[in-house]
Amino acid sequence: MLRFGENIQEILAREGMSRRDFLKFCSVMAGALALPHKESLAIARALESPHRLPVVWLELQDCAGCSEAFLRSSSPTAAELVLDVLSVDYHETIMAPSGFQAEKSKDDAIAAGGYVLIVEGSISTAGVGEYCCIAGKSSRFILEEAARNAAAIIAVGNCATFGGIPAANPNPTGAVGVWNIIKDKPVVNIPGCPMNPANLTATVVHFLTYGSLPEMDQLNRPLFAFGRRIHDNCERRGHFDAGEFVMQWGDEGHRAGWCLYKMGCKGPATFHNCPTIRFNEGVSWPIGSGHPCIGCSEPGFWNWEVYKPVILNSVTPPTTYPSVEKPVREISPASIAISGTAIGAIAGAAGAFAYSALTKRSSQTESEIDEDSETPVEH
Ligand code: SF4
Repeated sequence: MLRFGENIQEILAREGMSRRDFLKFCSVMAGALALPHKESLAIARALESPHRLPVVWLELQDCAGCSEAFLRSSSPTAAELVLDVLSVDYHETIMAPSGFQAEKSKDDAIAAGGYVLIVEGSISTAGVGEYCCIAGKSSRFILEEAARNAAAIIAVGNCATFGGIPAANPNPTGAVGVWNIIKDKPVVNIPGCPMNPANLTATVVHFLTYGSLPEMDQLNRPLFAFGRRIHDNCERRGHFDAGEFVMQWGDEGHRAGWCLYKMGCKGPATFHNCPTIRFNEGVSWPIGSGHPCIGCSEPGFWNWEVYKPVILNSVTPPTTYPSVEKPVREISPASIAISGTAIGAIAGAAGAFAYSALTKRSSQTESEIDEDSETPVEH
């Protein structure tokens, strides 16, 4: 917990974290942000500054899941300590004041300006704003008022970025994301349900170090976290390439950790760094736990049918991948030496066959797909 007047060096010392740990964290942050290693020194200098970045954290149409993710850990990590050195001037769930006092804290922070505005939850645009009011103000008014003097705006979670659950059909409150309302300054989107706090930390570290938001994709998501599909880095990708699929919950393939594509995995259409960064301090993530990706960092994912596979249309053909099949009988080293080239060609062909069998789906419409006609490759 932050104590008044402390800088990060004092917080680290109090929490029993060495300077070596701190520099290691700065190095990890440079890696996470895809920056050259030497930039870790610039990050360390920025974090050691006695200047504490003020933060105003709004909660609008939300479930507080992103706040929970932010506060999740029982033992502090370097990442959390960095967030500790922020001056969180307003966060209705965790701040001590309430009622008029809380509103005054927000008004004072907005009047002072220069803060980072973090928004959790969607904004209601239906009617005259009656679906989400706090202290007599509509969610839209609250957002526009807080955005006016903000130095940077970060939308966290699928609700604040793309509308999330409140925007699911038929979207009765007219829920939208922050960037649909705020047009006169950049908004960085960190979607997810919830967002991964490590991605928020890295974005804040980038802002503290360079005074700017990280490079973003066309959906305003930072490229360091949302530059690649889940499918690209998934630990089950070898099974996808080999045509080894879970066909039923609890079947042999499920127990063996095979690919979850046929159980509705949205990994091939979802951009997020879940496979590498994981959750709960790197312990696990949904696919690692045996559940398909539900695409929570993509717009409109609550309208996707959770257990219906996406159509594959831009997957790298794995024709050069070796087979993951075990040989059915022993082959002598001499035979391997003689026929190495031929085996490579056969393995490539096996991969290509598995891929083409699977991607026949991509030329079909969803309604034409008959799950019963597709069986996993026999081994
Ligand atoms: S379809 Fe899903 S489970 Fe299978 S490899 Fe891709 S991301 Fe992993």
